[in-house]
Amino acid sequence: MGARREPPFALSVDVEDYFQVQAFAGRVSRQDWPQYPPRVERNVERLLDLFDETGAKATFFVLGWIARRYPTLVRAIAGRGHEVASHGVSHRMLTELSPSEFRAEAVDSRLLLEDLSGTPVIGFRAPSYSVMRSTLWALEVLRETGYAYDSSVYPIRGRRYGYPEGPVAPARIPAGKGDIAEFPLPTVPFGPLRVPVLAGAYLRLLPSWVSLLATRYHGWRGVPLAVNVHPWEIDPEQPTVGFSRLSKWTHYARLGRTEEILRRVLRSGRFAPLATRLAELGILYPPSENGTP
Ligand SMILES: [Zn+2]
Repeated sequence: MGARREPPFALSVDVEDYFQVQAFAGRVSRQDWPQYPPRVERNVERLLDLFDETGAKATFFVLGWIARRYPTLVRAIAGRGHEVASHGVSHRMLTELSPSEFRAEAVDSRLLLEDLSGTPVIGFRAPSYSVMRSTLWALEVLRETGYAYDSSVYPIRGRRYGYPEGPVAPARIPAGKGDIAEFPLPTVPFGPLRVPVLAGAYLRLLPSWVSLLATRYHGWRGVPLAVNVHPWEIDPEQPTVGFSRLSKWTHYARLGRTEEILRRVLRSGRFAPLATRLAELGILYPPSENGTP
């Protein structure tokens, strides 16, 4: 036995609905969100069942907009033993927010989610993983507003996001006058490059053997892993929103297969919430000890 020999696998869900994804932001305005038929409750229920079946525990980064409309969903997530954390309020990327606007979203979402879940909320994931070189100020805001960790760094050179200089494994990283724990999104080295795996579109679009091999790589090397999925990614019946050929393909391709790939990945190890793994790694400090001025 021994907890030390267990691969440090973590699991997260970005709780938002299919019409809220950044790829459709040009087509779907925020004011129109209430007009779309919601699918998030049934999809989160399916994920909760899948996690029960595979013995996985996860961090659910819940969008404030969702939490306000579906308070029982937040209670169900907490009640079934998962960590509740924040995905902001409006799903605007950090590049679209001023520091004071972001501060308001960080505070409001934390208070709302703590109220609904009855548990402390200490983790944050930025919409579209938008912690990048130009938005590092957000980490200071998170530390100052009571968060103990962030999980928004994608250490790749992406089309819309990516912070190639960011950490490739959990670490304390600078956040203004102090620092904060960061659990980056997963990548594997491929020659001189780092290739994204096991999160969102990469989990869906890469062949399942790549995902399983990437999981094993992290296990063999003892590199902490945060698998990430969105509720709409296991829902092939969702209404069509996308317009450009690329956004259509990256959103809708292989939705019918995601649940099975995810099931196989989750069966290959024991998955825990991000906060659990960061604490085991000894890099999660309570917010009060983060040196807030
Ligand atoms: Zn999101």
